[in-house]
Amino acid sequence: ARGLVVELGGRRGLFRRAPAVRAVDGVDLAVASGETFGIVGESGCGKTTLARALLGLQREAAGEIVLEGRTVSGHHPLAARRMRAAVQYVHQDPGAALDPWWRVGRTLAEGLAIHGVTDRAEQEARIAETLAAVGLDAAMAQRYPHELSGGQQRRIGLARILLLRPKVVILDEPTAGLDLSVQAAVLRLLRELRARFGLTYVFISHDLSVVRRVCDRVAVMYLGRIVEEGSAATLFREPRHPYTRALLAAAPHLDGRDTGPSLPGDPPSLRAVPHGCRFHPRCSMAIPLCAAQDPAPEPAAPGHTVACHRWRDAPTEHRDAA
Ligand code: SF4
Repeated sequence: ARGLVVELGGRRGLFRRAPAVRAVDGVDLAVASGETFGIVGESGCGKTTLARALLGLQREAAGEIVLEGRTVSGHHPLAARRMRAAVQYVHQDPGAALDPWWRVGRTLAEGLAIHGVTDRAEQEARIAETLAAVGLDAAMAQRYPHELSGGQQRRIGLARILLLRPKVVILDEPTAGLDLSVQAAVLRLLRELRARFGLTYVFISHDLSVVRRVCDRVAVMYLGRIVEEGSAATLFREPRHPYTRALLAAAPHLDGRDTGPSLPGDPPSLRAVPHGCRFHPRCSMAIPLCAAQDPAPEPAAPGHTVACHRWRDAPTEHRDAA
């Protein structure tokens, strides 16, 4: 994605025009084939809007999305079709994505039919094969969504998109609400499916311990911008941006130790984005320059960028929280 911008709102009401907000503001992302690319940040920082833009679902999006060398963004129907087939989304609440009145098999068959697979026998064969790939029995197709556990619903959600043979899968909080053992099983399955189907994942999560375990590279978002990006190993070991450092310090420890100080306050509204560095009202390292000038992303190390005037001053010792 190059120069992705999503402006929301801005419609004319009865008496006044509501100002537009930039939920995604000039995002560049390069996701390599076969990798798992994490996007982290607090709620409301633009992660889900970015995911929708990557899926081509955000009609207001400006910028360019290139898949395997071809531009797939824009309003051309062919580009939109190519994008819909190649990039799929796994909803953070897979139960909500299933019709409660339909047996699972009917929902899966419907997805295939929309994408042109209408032969009944072929549908059944592909559904049985895909259910097996996600570790479910073919009999699961006869169940209704309310008869499935949370883990089974997640597996059905994965089967639903795998049927369409995508290249890129956007996983939105794929382990939210699962207990630790089910979470571990889902993460193991995701790894297996990535290898088996040659998938590339964009992994959206606020759970830093999960992101650390599964992601190759990570981008940290704050108020619609990417403020730090790098390999998961480097970013977790040596975070440079004060926001990343604060997120890591506030993350719960797996071993039950107390967390560090939580982030002060909530992120400001996108309707009132602070001037200069967007993080400056909450940043413990802010200096007058921060309120005056927006920091541009700079390379801090090979493959690692950070947008902060003071990243060189960040302490090198980091208490490894996640
Ligand atoms: Fe903090 Fe300034 Fe860096 Fe922004 S630019 S994160 S306010 S030190």
